Amino acid sequence: MSAKVIDGKAFAAKVREQVAEHVQTLTSKHGVKPGLAVVLVGEDPASQVYVRNKGKQTVEVGMNSFEHRLPADTSEETLIGLVRQLNESPDVHGILVQLPLPSHLDSDLVINTIAPEKDVDGFHISNVGLLGTGQKSMAPCTPLGCLMMLREELGSLSGLNAVVLGRSNIVGKPMAQLLLRDSCTVTIAHSRTKDIEAVSAAADIVVAAVGRPEMVKANWIKPGATVIDVGINRVDAPELGTKEDGSPKTRIVGDVAYDEVAKVAGAITPVPGGVGPMTIACLLANTLTAYCRANDLPEPTGLTA
Ligand code: NDP
Repeated sequence: MSAKVIDGKAFAAKVREQVAEHVQTLTSKHGVKPGLAVVLVGEDPASQVYVRNKGKQTVEVGMNSFEHRLPADTSEETLIGLVRQLNESPDVHGILVQLPLPSHLDSDLVINTIAPEKDVDGFHISNVGLLGTGQKSMAPCTPLGCLMMLREELGSLSGLNAVVLGRSNIVGKPMAQLLLRDSCTVTIAHSRTKDIEAVSAAADIVVAAVGRPEMVKANWIKPGATVIDVGINRVDAPELGTKEDGSPKTRIVGDVAYDEVAKVAGAITPVPGGVGPMTIACLLANTLTAYCRANDLPEPTGLTA
């Protein structure tokens, strides 16, 4: 058996298209465009790439993109002041502070300063609590993207056994909450879980978010299960040759040993091209949702948790 490959790139394009259609209709009726403000502190190269992509895709779906780039030595007071200013701005419907922040800044404090209704990353403690209690919240983008792909692939998730590998605040825990909300029977596994292979092999759905290259092997997967690989790990790839400095070239792999697991699973997301593209698409979906809520408009169907 060979698993169906879940094409995250194509699905993300479809989500962006839906967002763009809504934006066009809403903007022509209401005048004001949805706006997303992204705040980047420092020069982290990976963050710079993310922020550039976010800005580009925001504009492509017809929204306003506001980028705020601050130096690495920005004070907490200045950053909090900017967030407060964005909270008050009627043109800004979503605010994202790119993480990680430089170590002298308190990320929790900064994130919890964002107005919860503009917290399109879903990391504000109010949104975490609302999600955990099954109330209307803003769901974090990566788990929301995973949920959308699972719903698209499997239809109703009700009653399915789901195992989430990883318990971080940004992926594992909210993923588990979203699956629970869709009536899965959810197990969260982590570095202290005993016999994790057997726990994983009992699941209809496995979401891997451990940050360990190709940790999940074929014997971790029940035949026919759906496997969502959140992991993004850079590993040496000497088979690709060497860089100018003589060190081996690198490639990106997921948390799942793709080739062997694809022989057992019913469906699987590749890395790259699986969960990754869905994350920004869901950020745009969340910004649209925030705009609709701010203007007492019906929320877009299929784009929320
Ligand atoms: P964290 O490092 O915050 O959390 C990793 C989790 O995995 C922890 O709960 C840890 O357990 C668990 N874990 C680590 N090693 C093992 C092990 N050997 N066995 C079982 N559990 C283990 O990572 P994130 O949640 O932030 O990210 C996970 C992965 O997803 C990373 O590769 C990251 O790059 C990727 N990612 C991808 C995104 C995307 O857009 N596609 C977005 C965000 C993340 P414990 O708590 O016990 O230490």
